[in-house]
Amino acid sequence: MNGNDEPKRLYGFRRLTKGERGTFYQELKTPHWWSGSDAKASDKGWLHIYEKGKWKCVYCDTDLLASADILAGSTEEHLVPRALLEAVEESSNKLSNLAPCCIRCNNIKGEYVPDSSNLVAWQSKNSYIQACRQFIARRRVQLYEKYEGIIRAALRKRAGLSSKA
Ligand SMILES: [Zn+2]
Repeated sequence: MNGNDEPKRLYGFRRLTKGERGTFYQELKTPHWWSGSDAKASDKGWLHIYEKGKWKCVYCDTDLLASADILAGSTEEHLVPRALLEAVEESSNKLSNLAPCCIRCNNIKGEYVPDSSNLVAWQSKNSYIQACRQFIARRRVQLYEKYEGIIRAALRKRAGLSSKA
């Protein structure tokens, strides 16, 4: 590992480098549930995807219809990241690989994928989503622990309370 290609560790998850993506993909032995035959129809596609996902974030169940802001900030999530599939020239826009997602979960997940040796996580779409949910939930704990003191102090200050608990 050297130079700009050095992978960064983030919350225990190591992002795949460009060079590693192809090899990683070849290691996946389970059924390729993300590469179904249905391509997304680009125009009305997103409505179909959101309806199929019951207008909820695939990872945290946030109701994406709760406000126009939430809906506008949401996104069609590529369950298996685009970067990984593009590395092996596979389409990432198959309906089986898309789901509605809130902006917060999308930011947290980034290019996370379960390890290729984690056969349980990769064996089905549901178990893959489950693994991603757990990763996101764990990062939320770390974010909480990072910011809890700051939020507490700022809230107390805003409320005119002393800085001590
Ligand atoms: Zn979410």
